[in-house]
Amino acid sequence: MKPSFIHKPVNDPFDDPCVYIRIMREKRALLFDIGDISNLSQGELLKITDVFVTHTHIDHFIGFDYLLRAILKRNTPLKIYGPSNIIDCIEGKLKGYTWNHIKEYPIKIYVHEVKDNVIYSYLFDAENTFQKKQIGISKFNGLLIDEPLFKVKAIQLNHQIPCLGFILEENFHININKALLTERGLPVGPWLSELKEAIRLNKGLNTEFNINGNKYKLEDLIDIASITRGQKISYITDVAPEEENILKIIDFVRESDVLYCEAYFMKKDKEQAIERFHLTSDITGRIARDACIKELIPIHFSPRYMKLKETPYDEAILYFKNRSF
Ligand SMILES: [Zn+2]
Ligand SMILES: [Zn+2]
Repeated sequence: MKPSFIHKPVNDPFDDPCVYIRIMREKRALLFDIGDISNLSQGELLKITDVFVTHTHIDHFIGFDYLLRAILKRNTPLKIYGPSNIIDCIEGKLKGYTWNHIKEYPIKIYVHEVKDNVIYSYLFDAENTFQKKQIGISKFNGLLIDEPLFKVKAIQLNHQIPCLGFILEENFHININKALLTERGLPVGPWLSELKEAIRLNKGLNTEFNINGNKYKLEDLIDIASITRGQKISYITDVAPEEENILKIIDFVRESDVLYCEAYFMKKDKEQAIERFHLTSDITGRIARDACIKELIPIHFSPRYMKLKETPYDEAILYFKNRSF
């Protein structure tokens, strides 16, 4: 099965946490958090259409300028989703530069701020020298993006300040039965993407496809495709190690294929974790285990553990794999 999303951490776990997710077969990528992203290539940066910011501490937000510079002349807009204060933070960043030469640039930046049960939406348009303009207020029901291919959901957690957690969820996965293709003498080609698109958009069975000059209807081809559960990728970082957060996270990320989760402190430094509103790696492991996660990728470690033999990674995986803890 070819996955629809290819994901990777942008940095080493001792550096800024960010996850880059490429949407296959589309020239598009998503980014969870925007700390130091200088490890991404120009081509990778240009594909980013949506950025999900957990909170605006500098290690999660300093890369905004770097991305802005890369996409300044791009036609495709940039959408940013973040917690309460994200609009002020984006406005502050944009006000830190002089913009007298950008009126001809097409770039538009949409910012969506989640605050309790409301989403506030603003536009910063190069044509308007990035002056802030309110464009909408809507109800927040947990959903940030709802497209035929996938959804992105958010949850509000506590890190002394509000902090968002995110899930990317493919609506369903379409598999092509290659053996059946060969049996019917049908070639592999762009029509397969059209077929998948038609299924995702729930088009009628009379929808036509042109395959090497021959016409076929969706009803003749539908059995080539089978539908299975889609990918689910979760991203949680910078949350206080308190029961309310932990239970909310377990419920939110349940049965993800992959969970990226902070493991900033180790169990022995629990007191500091409480003071700094971060998880400890044993809790990270338990969250992943209790939520029946397939793969846990611990991220965002305190530099204090860099030279140690046992790192937060080891502790998180130990608690994840071992049911007796
Ligand atoms: Zn952080
Ligand atoms: Zn933080």
